[in-house]
This record gives sequence, structure tokens and C-alpha cells, in this order.
Amino acid sequence: MNQSLPGLVVDANEPVADAPPPAARRRRPDDRLNVVSSISFFALHLIPFLAIFTGVTRTALILAFVTFTTRMFCITGGYHRYFAHKTYRLNRLAQFTLAFGGTMAAQKGPLWWAAHHRNHHRFADTDRDVHSPKLGFWWSHVGWILCDKYNQADRSQIRDFASYPELRFIDRHDFIGPWTLGVICFLIGGWSGLLIGFFASTVLLWHVTFTVNSVAHVFGRRAYETDDTSRNNLLVALATGGEGWHNNHHRYPWSARQGFRWWQIDTTYYVLRALSWVGIVRDLRPVPATVIEEARAARARRRASGTSP
Ligand SMILES: [Zn+2]
Ligand SMILES: [Zn+2]
Repeated sequence: MNQSLPGLVVDANEPVADAPPPAARRRRPDDRLNVVSSISFFALHLIPFLAIFTGVTRTALILAFVTFTTRMFCITGGYHRYFAHKTYRLNRLAQFTLAFGGTMAAQKGPLWWAAHHRNHHRFADTDRDVHSPKLGFWWSHVGWILCDKYNQADRSQIRDFASYPELRFIDRHDFIGPWTLGVICFLIGGWSGLLIGFFASTVLLWHVTFTVNSVAHVFGRRAYETDDTSRNNLLVALATGGEGWHNNHHRYPWSARQGFRWWQIDTTYYVLRALSWVGIVRDLRPVPATVIEEARAARARRRASGTSP
């Protein structure tokens, strides 16, 4: 993992302007967008506008809310905190359920997602980070996903979960999840249910998820002086169920919790805690007190030196 030593010089309340923007770097010559994938991706953004003809029903809006929030949890609590970082334990049925729910978000399979993400932590903002904002904000947000080169993930990064045949199956056939959800939305809410409950919700979910790679590496505050450009960003945290505390997360990615302090809202963690009370989630890994203390000590030092309000 690419992370800092415990020494800190930047305060949690440091103004954004004090943190230098990431220095630009040139993309590799073969980092080119696939034109067909890009056109398809943007065409999908237009589909919800067909609701001009169908109207937007109350059922469709409820569907959109439910499919957004539950799939967001499958990505943040599942793909990210479970498959990429193993911050808690599940039985095999719950593991598969979370993985299948994640495929419904149309962000490819759990093995692909988690393998790329593990590499992001290993090489964050170095030449080997595939979606560093140093390669451009747009590239870090979505460009890298539309590049053929990254259609395959480094499977050596995910050997632990790749040993499960059911996970390999849904990873290879990652279209099953979104198609299943699309049909369910249509059966429940008709055309409006499909256009708003599935397509609009999916497009919104994509971009909100992608802000963790783009916005949370460019805008926000740094409690920890990690080797990367990660930031803590309240708006991203609110929109993603806690993933916006990204500087915390880069400092200590092994914790199930990313909002390290009581006021750092982390709804993914609250759901995981609730699931642990009923025995579905086990062995949630905590944040060590020493890691929390690092940020507190740095803040106190800056206050004492008069460089922080
Ligand atoms: Zn990151
Ligand atoms: Zn992570």
C-alpha cells in the first residue's frame, strides 16, 4: 500500500488552497479512448430523457432511490471495503449476494473492480496508477474506464477471491446483473420505471462513484500527509455513503470505517455495523487509536503554532 509515515504536517481543517494541486503528467501513448465504447457510454446518458414521452411516475422515483442507495452500498461496502480491502468477513452466500448486487451497478465485475483498486492503492499517483488525476481530471473520472487497455485487470492482485468459481462466473458475465435489474424495474414500474428507476439511477451512480477517483484526489482537505493526492471531501462523503473521507482511507485502508472521527459521516459503515448486530457481517476491522491520534496531534501542533484557526 502506498501510504505515509506517521509524521504529519497538514491539519484536518487546512484550507483547500494550502494543498497544492496534483502536478500534471502526460498519459501513455496507448492510453487512448475506445470510440465505440465512448459513444455508447454517452448515448446511455440520453436514454433517461425519453421519459419526456412516458412521464415520470412516483413508482419510478421510488425505484430510482432504492436502486441508487442499495447499489451504492454494494459498491462501497461490497466491491470496495470487502472485495478490495477485506475490512470484515462474510459467509459465502452473503459474499455472493453483495458481489451480484455490485454487478447491478454496471461497473464491471467484483474481481475486475477490486484488482484495479488494489493497484490504485499500491501505486497511487505514481506512473503505475491507471486513474491518477495527474493524468487529467477527466481521465481519472471516466476516461480510463473507456480505454481498452484496462478492460482486463491484473488478476495477480485478486487471487484470494478469484478462487471462488461463482465470483469468477459473475465477473466474466457481468452483464447479467444490470440486465436483471433493468427487467425488474420494467416489470415494477413500466417504461418510466425502466428509464428513471434503472437508467437515470445508473448514470447518476456512475458519476457519483467516479468522484472518489477524481474529485477526492483534487478537492478537499488533508488530515494526513500521504504520498498521494487523496483528500477528505464532505460532499463526496455525503454522496457516496462515506467514501469521500479518502485521505483517511489512503492513510489506513484496512479499516471498515472511513470517517475516522465522530462527525465524519460514513453511512456505509453504519450499515455494516447494523449488519454486524444481526450476525451477517463479522470482524469489522477498526481504526487504530494511534492513527486517529496522528491527525489530532498535527492539528494541535498547528493550533499551537498559530497557523490554524
Ligand atoms: Zn484514491
Ligand atoms: Zn480503497
